[in-house]
This record gives sequence, C-alpha cells and structure tokens, in this order.
Amino acid sequence: MTVRWRIFVTVLVLVAALSSCKDDSTEMLPLDEFAEAQNEQFHVHTRSCNLDAKMESLMRDESYRKQHEEKFTKVNAALSDIKTRTSCSNPTIVPMAIHFQGISNPDAACLTALAQSQVDILNKDFTGTNTDILNWTSQAASFFPGASNGEACLQFCLADTNHPNGYGLSNGAPAVTVNKTNGDSDANWSGYINIFVRANTGVLGYSPLGGSGNGDGVVVDATAFGTGSGCGSVSPNAPFNLGRTLTHELGHYLLLDHIWGNGCNVDDLVADTPDQQQEYYGCPSQGASSCGSNDMHMSYMDYSNDACMYMFSAGQTARMEAYISSSLGNVTGNAANVCSTSGTTGGSTGGTTGGTGGGTTGGGTTVTCETPSAVSVANITSTSAELSWTAEPNASQYRIRYRESGTSTWSISNTTNTTEVLQNLMEATTYQYQVRTQCPAGWTAYTSMATFTTDTAVSTCAAPGSATVTNLSPNSVHVTWAAIPQAIRYRIRFRELGTSAFTVFSPTNPSRNLTNLKAGTTYQYQLRTRCPSGWTTWNSMSTFTTEGTTTAANVLTVKLTLDNYGSETTWELVNENGNVIEDDGPFQDGQAGTLKVKTFEAEEGCYTLYIDDSYGDGICCNYGEGSLELLLNGVVIGESDGQFGYYDYIDFCITANGFKMGDRKRDAKKAQAQEKHPPRVANH
Ligand SMILES: [Zn+2]
Repeated sequence: MTVRWRIFVTVLVLVAALSSCKDDSTEMLPLDEFAEAQNEQFHVHTRSCNLDAKMESLMRDESYRKQHEEKFTKVNAALSDIKTRTSCSNPTIVPMAIHFQGISNPDAACLTALAQSQVDILNKDFTGTNTDILNWTSQAASFFPGASNGEACLQFCLADTNHPNGYGLSNGAPAVTVNKTNGDSDANWSGYINIFVRANTGVLGYSPLGGSGNGDGVVVDATAFGTGSGCGSVSPNAPFNLGRTLTHELGHYLLLDHIWGNGCNVDDLVADTPDQQQEYYGCPSQGASSCGSNDMHMSYMDYSNDACMYMFSAGQTARMEAYISSSLGNVTGNAANVCSTSGTTGGSTGGTTGGTGGGTTGGGTTVTCETPSAVSVANITSTSAELSWTAEPNASQYRIRYRESGTSTWSISNTTNTTEVLQNLMEATTYQYQVRTQCPAGWTAYTSMATFTTDTAVSTCAAPGSATVTNLSPNSVHVTWAAIPQAIRYRIRFRELGTSAFTVFSPTNPSRNLTNLKAGTTYQYQLRTRCPSGWTTWNSMSTFTTEGTTTAANVLTVKLTLDNYGSETTWELVNENGNVIEDDGPFQDGQAGTLKVKTFEAEEGCYTLYIDDSYGDGICCNYGEGSLELLLNGVVIGESDGQFGYYDYIDFCITANGFKMGDRKRDAKKAQAQEKHPPRVANH
C-alpha cells in the first residue's frame, strides 16, 4: 500500500496527512529497496509516479520539512514577478546532468545522444514549442476559457564544462555519466538538476516536490526515458516513449503538484488549472469533466499517455519559474560555470527557446524556414493595428498572438499573408504580440515579445443627443441621456410650455430628476455639455408631459334674481381671512325677475357669501320674487329664498373632494325694519 501524501497549506503551516492509495498494490518500502525488490524486468503499463512515497520519506526529516515549508512561502513571493514579465529574450539557463545506472554493455555515444534528445524534449515542452501544442491551441483551449498554455522562459542545458572530478568526463563533453552514480542523489553534482535513469523502478519515475539542487534529482525508469529506439536496455516503451515522464517529474521537482491535487476542493495551488477529481490514464476525450468543470488531462501533470499530454498551463510554468528563481539560485547560479552556451540561445541539437523550428527534410535537403523576422507595426488607430513581417520561404502559414499587456490570455489568429490587421482593440492600451511560422517541420518559436499602444480615441465632446424621460409621478420626471465621453458636466433647462423662464440644473452625471412639476402639463427642455473646451450649444428643444390631468378649477357661480329695488341689493364673497374675493351690486331698480350671474374661480378654502338688502326688507316677495343661488362647478350648493331683513349668508368650504356646507343665517330684524320703514309699495 503506497502512502499517499497530500498538502494542506494553512497560514504557512504544512501538515502532512496520510491516506490510502487506490492504484497501487505494492508493499510500501523505502524507494531503493522498492526498486531492488523488483527481480524481474517489467514494463510499466499505466503511468505511475512515486511522488507521494518520495515525499513521505523526505518529510520524516524535521529540518527537511522546515525547509520544504519555506519553499511554499518563497514561491508565492516570487510568483508576482514572473507574472509581470513581458518578454523572454533572455531565458534562465538551468544546468542539468544525466546519470545512467546499472547498464550492462553500455553504448556511451548512444546514451549521450539519447540524453541530449531528452533535454531537447524538455526545452520544447517547457517553452510550449512542442509541435503537438497545436492540439491545445487549435482545439483543447476552447474547453478552458481564460486559460493559456505556459511558455516558460527557461532553457535546460546539458552541462558541458567544469565537470566534477572522478566521473571520467572531459571538458566540453556533455554531463552524461554511465554506471558512475547510485541512488537518487549525488552531492558531487550539487548545482545541477540531476536525472537518474534506472531500470526496474516499478514506476515511471519520481521526484521530490520541490528539489533542492544539492545533488538531488529526478528518477526516470529506463523504459520511459527519451524517445526513439533507445540504447539497449534503456529503451522507451509506448505509450510512454515521447520523453514526457521526465517533463512530468521535472514539474514535481519545480514544485508542481499533480493537476488533480487530491480530489475536488483540494487544489494543486495553481490558479488556472481546474478543480479535478482524480487522475486520467490513457488518452482521455476532450470535455471530460469532474468537480463541475472540464478537466485539463492534457497537462503534463496528469497521468495521460505521452501522446495525450502536451501542455503546461501558464499558471504551472509561472509557478515553476517562480520556484527556480526563489529556491534554485544554487542551480541557475552555476550555469555560467558549467554550461558553455550560457548566455546564448540554442546549444542543443534541436530547436529551443528563441531558436528556429526549421531543420532538414527527410531527403537531407536544407529547407530554410524560420521564425519571422522584422515584424513591424503600422497604421495604429484607437481600435486597430497592422502587423507585418518578412515572408519566410517554405512557410505554410503564420500565427499571430496578442494580448493586453498584463493579462494572461492570448488572442490567436493564423494567416498565410505577411500582414495581419488586429481589430477591435481598446483605445490607449498597450498590447503584446508575437509571431511564428509554420514550417514543414512544425511551428517555429515565437518572435521576441514586442508591444504597441493604441491611440486615444479622437475627442467627440458634443451636446447630448435625445434624452429619455421617465414619468416618476404626476409632479416629477427622470431625464437620462447617453454620456458624452469627455463631458465635465451637463446642463438641463426646462419650462412649462407657453412660459418663458427656464429652471436650470447642472448635473455631473447624465441624468436628472425634475420635481415640483404640474400634473398633466407639457414642458419644454434642452441639454448641453460642458466639454474641456467649454459649453456646447443647446441641443434641440424637446418636450414631455407629466402624468395625470390638470387640476379642475373650482368655478363658483352666483345667480342673483333681483326684486324691483335692485339699488338696495349687493352681495360679497369673503374668504376665511375676511377679505372680499368677489362682489356685485347694487343694481338698477325696476328689474324685478332679472338674473344677474357672476362666474369666477376660487381656490380651496372656506368662504362666506353675503346677500345684503340696504333697506332691510329682503328681496322677496313683496316687490318681486328675488332670490340667490350659489353653484360650484355648475352644481347648486346653496341658496337664499330672499326672505330676510338686512342680510342672509351661506358658509361653505371648497375642498379637494368638493365642498362642505357650514352655517347659514338670516337676520331676524325683518319685522322691525318693516315697522321702521313703511312698505315700499307706498313710496313707489
Ligand atoms: Zn507525478
């Protein structure tokens, strides 16, 4: 039973916990014994990786455990620097030494070539220049919106100078030893990442999670190292015969966990890899998912077959680079000493970062086909830019990728032309771009990262266009209009239709509530903009009408029927403050039966309507049938029959809902007055 090892990072504290493994039935032994316990040579048929067992063994050492915890702290601090890097003109050189162990009748030249070919594979896989990265860029990437493949700014160098003594290596020869080392560490090879190729490991390989560069390294089984026909007992076996076991194990050495972490909700500490339930074997179908998201089984950190893993995520390469810069300075610092190519690109037989993807055809004729040269940018506008480059003979097409500087996701386009207009860009924004060539032998490396910045859009500060008016209530509306990009503020003015004076507001935002309006009333309004250069003219006049209907006027009508002595008759309407609002009379005599009508508007409020007779004998009925009616909006609300002495009155109130009647009194002096004054009939 293998002891599976998992990490929980909790506020810089790591806790190693134990859980059982489901895919391995071998008795747990220290790794060396484990390998020796395998008496027969056998081929591994499913990918397996003893990361967990290796870590279980290492973490028993208290000082190792402490150093291990520090690696996680340091890598996070270094990660931000990696993410802001914009170009890879100067890759970090990582010295490497490869040690074959337990080889019978070794063919040293063959093993050296095999070692070099494996380093070439690493360089392609880590920089995203492997030919099958097309599986990602042309298909699989669409299953992972927002995720990009990683392109580490690294170059693994098979060391070739200043070798440690005692290994029979001459200066200038590659650091490949055969049957000179034992186990999975050799302190003489401190300052290198060591690769130990051993037979019968029982697994495809293993590595510490986060190597130290102190002579430690990665173990790869002799059946899974390199590619091609191999060298005797060191013979890569399908489906693990494309050199990707070392790509996977080197990922562990550079602090990458398996992509599935340890199941749903247990992260691999890489942000752009999806949550995944468990490992995949074989060649999974795109779109396979778990934990609610598509699974990135094409990552080198899964267990898929060599042919079905073809990428690191950008987050994975960034983490590895951060680990190298934060914890493997003893290795990278050794590059100038042990790698004669340090400081230059190339240095291996195949294409590496910054190199070409050209090569020769099968017939041996040299074909010139390289990374595009002289890439230039022209016709930059606020939304587009045109890239162009020199044509490469034998190119089948070119690939352009570009992104907003500081972001991680590329936009990619292919063209057979030597120009490409990038469209729909954002104004005043810096973009990074690279171009590469598809040659008969595959894609070249990308050109060095370069940038351009789009223009600022030409100012279009103008008066607002038409606005939208929303009725909020009968007495208020909300006016909104499209924002003007360069506006400092706006001005809105409005008035009731038919009036002349505007009310003015100066809002900063392109909207304004207009309140205290009359219901059911039409208003005019206009807008203008305060631009950096000053106020625009007003836009064309528009109108809106408030909700509701105009408040009905309170129309009072006083209908007075005269008796024959109109000269004695007057009436007046007094408001609650004692002020006379309306009045009429006196009238001419001799008009008995004549109707005197007066109509006028009155506000809501309480009133008293007086009808007076100066003679004190009323207006009815001795000298005519005089009377008085009070109407509100055409409806009689009060009346006097004219039979009073000096006066009669009606109290009433006009309310929002109509009217309300109050007291009504006539004077009681009629008899007395008639006594004082002889009946009129006698005088007339
Ligand atoms: Zn692994």
